[in-house]
Amino acid sequence: MKKKLKQVAELENQEQESDFSAISSKLDIKEPTKRKMKDVHRDFKEGNIILQPEFQRDFIWTKNKQAELIKSIWRGIPLPMFYFSVERNGKFEVIDGQQRLTTIFGYISSQLIKDRRIRDKLIKKIKIKDENKNNISRDDIIKRVLEDTNIYCVEIPEVGLNTNDKFEIFRSLNLGATPLKFQEIRNAIFQKEIPHLNKSLKSGAQKIERLTGMKNFRMTFEDLVLRFYIINEKGYDKRVSDQLKNNVELKNIFTEEKIKTINSKFNRFINYMNKVFGRKSFQTLSKIKENKRLPDNKWEKHAFSAKINQGLFHLFSYYIPKYSKHRLNKKSDKKIREEFVKLLKNSRFLNLITGSGTDSTKNIKKSSSLFEKLFLNVCFGDWYKIDKRNIPRELKTTMIENVPFCYLCYGKLKRIEHIENFSDIHGEHIKSFKEGNKSTYRNILLAHKKCNSEKSAKRLEDYRKQDKSILKRKKNKQNIKEYIRCLKEWNTYYPLHAYKKLVKYAKRDKKL
Ligand SMILES: [Zn+2]
Repeated sequence: MKKKLKQVAELENQEQESDFSAISSKLDIKEPTKRKMKDVHRDFKEGNIILQPEFQRDFIWTKNKQAELIKSIWRGIPLPMFYFSVERNGKFEVIDGQQRLTTIFGYISSQLIKDRRIRDKLIKKIKIKDENKNNISRDDIIKRVLEDTNIYCVEIPEVGLNTNDKFEIFRSLNLGATPLKFQEIRNAIFQKEIPHLNKSLKSGAQKIERLTGMKNFRMTFEDLVLRFYIINEKGYDKRVSDQLKNNVELKNIFTEEKIKTINSKFNRFINYMNKVFGRKSFQTLSKIKENKRLPDNKWEKHAFSAKINQGLFHLFSYYIPKYSKHRLNKKSDKKIREEFVKLLKNSRFLNLITGSGTDSTKNIKKSSSLFEKLFLNVCFGDWYKIDKRNIPRELKTTMIENVPFCYLCYGKLKRIEHIENFSDIHGEHIKSFKEGNKSTYRNILLAHKKCNSEKSAKRLEDYRKQDKSILKRKKNKQNIKEYIRCLKEWNTYYPLHAYKKLVKYAKRDKKL
């Protein structure tokens, strides 16, 4: 039992993220400079080098590895380059070389390493044999050699790099031995660029840690929390991993305000999972013996995989927040668990969420539909029939502020402070709601209530042909230019479904 609690987070079917490609542009980075280790060490002593920036991984080198490094320096093997990011305040943060510098500085003078946990891991004494097989155990000799070693430092200016550039730098630096996981790189970037997002990912990760009783390993849980955010903000019709890659967009979406709302959603989600599934949340059954029919669907009778299944995590993340508390509590927890066990035994479903290709758009569609049909509908009912299609007011307000026009007649919408009743402004889903295209910024257009009811269920193409509609558009022709401008800008943040079509129509209407 104890062992299980200490289990390190492990994800089933974590997709390959090696296909990452950021937009490449030429970066303005100077040639490396040659420096003596003792000079770098002096900088460190004077507080000008941040060895363990908050975003960096812990010190993870074993004593053996530390000894090996020092021996190799002793033997005169040149060290790979060190990378520093030059902060606005002139201080240097170590981007690459943290483990090596910690080892070296720690060996030269461990009292300078402030963090006790790190200090305890450092090697203090070292034995090296010289060419005559004599032990060299005099640390002062070894230290002197270390201090006289030349190293090459690359300085990357913090100014002038955008988020994706930095991401790319971290990524390419870490193609080597112990590559950083993507979330670790993201963390490094977010720390500076979107600190509020980082903070809330961290606190979310702790909640998953408590929920599952697993130990968060290399930011696996921060990655999951971010997935929850993205799925709830942008929907779950595409590969989540693709969306995780666009840091510029993430920065635009996850404003402090947004984080607050989405975070409380996340908290409710975790509480719910805890209540019903507890530690076994997001796990598949450990092994289903073939040819052996499992006795029943009693939760307690089954062993679980002890791994978080990413596919399950996505599905729960997407659907659970859609239900009202009332709906979620309609059936007993016991009954819900039994239905869930039943679902886990469905081999079609199982194949879709385990193994390769689980993150393909096609599989997401299939697994979602089985999840709805076999599990959600049975336990909580049809969510899109039950839960109103109301577009959250928050979404409408943001849209009004940015694109204050009725997309059907180009008439200007009231300013927020003048709106008495938000239901006068109707939000329209560009792609149908029923088909799983949800109320997200990408999928909403605003219209006058009146315009919208005139259009009713007609296709936009057909409605536009009506005299009434043409007349209105003609009347508001002078707004079209501004409407297109707003739409264009909005689209850079939230690429709208059917954007091209909307612009095409609007441009055509200019000639009315
Ligand atoms: Zn209108």
